[in-house]
Amino acid sequence: MATTQRGYYDILGIPRGASADDIKKAFRRRAREIHPDLHTGTKKTEMEKKFKELNEAHEVLSDPDKRKKYDQYGSNWEQAEAYEQARQQAGAQAGRGGRPGGPSGDFGDIFETFFGGRTRGGGASGFAVDGEDLETDVHLGIRDVLTGVTRRIDLTERVACKACGGSAIVRGRPCVVCGGSGVQAEKRTIEVRIPAGVQHDTRVRLAGKGQPGINGGKPGDLYLRVHIQANGIFRQKGFDIQVTLPVWPWEAALGADVMAPTLTEPVKVKIPPGSKADSKLRLKGKGLPTTTGEQGDLFLKLKIVMPSSISDEERTLYEQLGRARHSDPRAEIIAASRRGSS
Ligand SMILES: [Zn+2]
Repeated sequence: MATTQRGYYDILGIPRGASADDIKKAFRRRAREIHPDLHTGTKKTEMEKKFKELNEAHEVLSDPDKRKKYDQYGSNWEQAEAYEQARQQAGAQAGRGGRPGGPSGDFGDIFETFFGGRTRGGGASGFAVDGEDLETDVHLGIRDVLTGVTRRIDLTERVACKACGGSAIVRGRPCVVCGGSGVQAEKRTIEVRIPAGVQHDTRVRLAGKGQPGINGGKPGDLYLRVHIQANGIFRQKGFDIQVTLPVWPWEAALGADVMAPTLTEPVKVKIPPGSKADSKLRLKGKGLPTTTGEQGDLFLKLKIVMPSSISDEERTLYEQLGRARHSDPRAEIIAASRRGSS
């Protein structure tokens, strides 16, 4: 028994191919807009009717079996189903009646279905609605990951219009503040603590920081999608950090004590004699904290660099180096290139 000529998909404002998740989200969003508690007077009566339609649409579309039948038969799906059954069971009566608890059940049943029994007494105005989950992006620097950080976050949510109290009417005329909808957008700034050790492109859940509930409904959760900005010095590899550390050729050859950056204060490190280009030194525990309380490492990747200009004295020393006997460092790739071309 459809109470409306509008299709269920139109009522929820979704396309016919919408996913189960889309249906759930659309239902929650719409339920908040037209919840009878947000309205008073004639608007409330109208919203109670709309709310009933919405629940009916949701009940059918959120049930895969009912949805399939609705898609097949349209708003007369219950009759069509009954007719099918009657045809199959020879002799059974083809009549149909209001099925208790079905979409044609009374208002109270529908509320029970919607709110899963967490309803309060006192008629339509006494029902609790949970707040929606909210999601927003946060951009962090790598040092924020080390320490955790407190951020102020601006949220926009739909609340009952303050000018008309949600009735949509002021002195017999449509409310100009909310344009007659009874709801308005409200900005809310909250302060949140983002824990140390968050990873790039993950979501942090802040329980109860989403949209507030109505009438004792529990608040939704706030999800922060974390983006960690690239840093020119510190590259994040999971909980480890990698830093390219420039060294002079003689430091690599002879070994040296040099200063290296860390996420906190620079530290002194020992370059071992005979260090090769691209070799790595590990600074244990100087990486990022994990959410389980461990600590990643910092790796220094050695990059052998040349001075941009050399003095006469240095030239003399290089000439001495050049006269020393060394194997040809290119011998291997030249041999390999010949094998590859033959
Ligand atoms: Zn208003």
